[in-house]
Amino acid sequence: MLTGLERARGIVLERAAPLAAEQVPLEEALGRILAEEVRSDEPVPGFDSSAMDGFAVRTEDTQGATASAPSELRIAGESRAGRPAASPLLPGDAYQISTGAMIPAGADAVVPVEDARTANGRLLVEGAVAAGQHVRRAGEDIAAGETVLERGAELGPAELGVLASLGRSTPRCGQRPRVGVLTSGDELLVAGEAMRPGAVRDSNRHSIPALVERAGAEPLVVATVPDDPAATRSALAPLLEADVAIVCGGVSVGEHDHVRGALAELRVEPAFWGVALRPGKPTWFGSRGATLVFGLPGNPVSAIVTFVLLVRPAIAVLAGGAPERTRTTAILDGDYEKAPGRAHAIRCRLSLREDGWHAAPAPHQGSHVLTSMLGADCLALAPAESASLRAGERIEVELLNS
Ligand code: AMP
Ligand code: MG
Repeated sequence: MLTGLERARGIVLERAAPLAAEQVPLEEALGRILAEEVRSDEPVPGFDSSAMDGFAVRTEDTQGATASAPSELRIAGESRAGRPAASPLLPGDAYQISTGAMIPAGADAVVPVEDARTANGRLLVEGAVAAGQHVRRAGEDIAAGETVLERGAELGPAELGVLASLGRSTPRCGQRPRVGVLTSGDELLVAGEAMRPGAVRDSNRHSIPALVERAGAEPLVVATVPDDPAATRSALAPLLEADVAIVCGGVSVGEHDHVRGALAELRVEPAFWGVALRPGKPTWFGSRGATLVFGLPGNPVSAIVTFVLLVRPAIAVLAGGAPERTRTTAILDGDYEKAPGRAHAIRCRLSLREDGWHAAPAPHQGSHVLTSMLGADCLALAPAESASLRAGERIEVELLNS
């Protein structure tokens, strides 16, 4: 009995729990998931500041000013960014001020350089200035006590900037899941090995750890084993110390497929084997303690597809994040032939048109055609029960990159 794709995903997520949190220096926090709510202790900006280069004035000194009868103010000092004026602005005076500099006590507006006429150390203001003009108020960006970032937020460049602006240099983040990867098969050649008849260069050994890193996890052990029961068992044992263990290949029912036997001997508790998905049917999932164990098909495309649809959501939850962020919909470009039975993951390229995003299927969809993944932006998900799809239908898609 094959397990439906969404059911399989549900079973995986039921067994996935967020890892403990840790303090992470901002320099290393890009892509990490925030494990705390961040409130600001102080307002940002922390003081009233000038939005322009110009002159800080007291607006009462400019009342009634006109082009023919300007107010004349003495330029009595300066407030620079990081170097506030030493004393309050006195009536009849103006201070030169730079963008971002503190508004001196007594001043309530800024006359920008572009509008200022100066002569003999005096500022001529040719019209009444409105109070608050070109002044950025303290707390305009963030008020003291405000919640700025929620737990579960992914830390991108803007989030890192905001944390820095609050003086948070070591936010609490979910731990990066550690993921062991094993590829298996007598036919596999590792990079640099000479070709021999019937051999296949090991591509999963590179594509899967790369996907692991992209998913925000840390590829830990990466190894390759031949189709041998004892070798498979001893290579799998250390993998089970990681948060997630992935074996590619050798999970099917062939006489030389030893992965399931080895997992049983290592007391990994099975949850499902066989998913109603194309490509990706021979996919196995189980767990031992908190370790999630995936047996992915050896076919390079199937391995990538099942990683994206089943392993990546688990990694997201382990890291403290949400697995749904990469789901959206698009309009299918071109017909797609299929019979009801299994869900299909259709490799597509996305393009933006007047009516929104369109997903165009790659011409070759065979699970052995790895180049069909080149330039693919998403997997369009044709539901198991659906028959052929027609161009123009809206379809759910899983983005390959978030
Ligand atoms: P398996 O899942 O072991 O039955 O393998 C299915 C197909 O994928 C076979 O054609 C294998 O040669 C191929 N294959 C398995 N593992 C890899 C790998 N790591 N890199 C490239 N091809 C592989
Ligand atoms: Mg094999």
